[in-house]
Amino acid sequence: MNVASILAGKSTEIITARPSATLLEIAEILSKYRIGCIILDDGKGGIAGIVSERDLVRAIAHSGQDILHSPVSKCMTKNVITCQTSDTMDTIMSAMTDGRFRHMPVVEDGELIAVISIGDVVKLRIEEAELEAAAMRDYIATG
Ligand code: AMP
Repeated sequence: MNVASILAGKSTEIITARPSATLLEIAEILSKYRIGCIILDDGKGGIAGIVSERDLVRAIAHSGQDILHSPVSKCMTKNVITCQTSDTMDTIMSAMTDGRFRHMPVVEDGELIAVISIGDVVKLRIEEAELEAAAMRDYIATG
């Protein structure tokens, strides 16, 4: 199982915003699309950064609500860790655990093609475990 297996079962709609968007605008987009993270595009086909709900919470706790009218570039993470469709589940889980983040943009040939979350990884792992259990039951029943 790899990232391609995840993408086969989910919508690859990508929600992006510009780094100049305000934190309030980002919060509205997160709420509207019921997502936890947004990729900030650099306007040239590349990724300028990533911002998650945690960044917004930290920014408000640190600076107060006035920060909501500042550009998200102030609190985005610039060093974005990405993955490719050929990456295995183990690679993705290690990267998310080691980096303590729950989202990863999928980049293929330099192009952003999807965003996966820890929820997608867990869902696939559960499906995998259920398939293994069913195969084991069949084996025992027919053995
Ligand atoms: P998350 O757990 O994904 O909500 O994000 C936790 C922190 O990691 C936030 O500061 C995010 O900006 C950052 N982050 C999320 N995804 C990534 C990623 N793929 N690469 C680098 N940083 C990330």
